[in-house]
Amino acid sequence: MEKTLFQKIADKEIPASIVYEDELCVAFRDIAPAAPVHVLLIPRKPIPSIADATAEDAALLAHLMLKVGDIAQAEGIAEGGFRTVLNTGENGGQTVPHLHIHIIGGRSLQWPPG
Ligand code: 5GP
Repeated sequence: MEKTLFQKIADKEIPASIVYEDELCVAFRDIAPAAPVHVLLIPRKPIPSIADATAEDAALLAHLMLKVGDIAQAEGIAEGGFRTVLNTGENGGQTVPHLHIHIIGGRSLQWPPG
């Protein structure tokens, strides 16, 4: 199967500004930031979307959720607050078919989204 864009970033075949990585996940700055801080956190495992995750991925998903807080702390947005977004499928606005968590902050964000 052809690698997704985000797999290529995780494998360093495409450059990105990586802010964190470990054996299970990689976090890098969004190329078109929606706020002063906009980081994408992905599992190295190419799960297409959260709707495709299974019970087998439970520990991996827990790992990602815990890293959200660590990254927000490291980016200086944990105290002021931030938004965590998982776009899923066409109606959800997902454009890259590799599960990714947006971590967005550094300004006051509106709700609900469009
Ligand atoms: P989605 O719309 O699928 O939830 O989010 C995909 C995100 O990936 C978008 O915010 C978009 O700006 C970002 N993106 C798309 N291509 C690249 C790229 O080549 N490098 C980086 N760093 N981000 C990208």
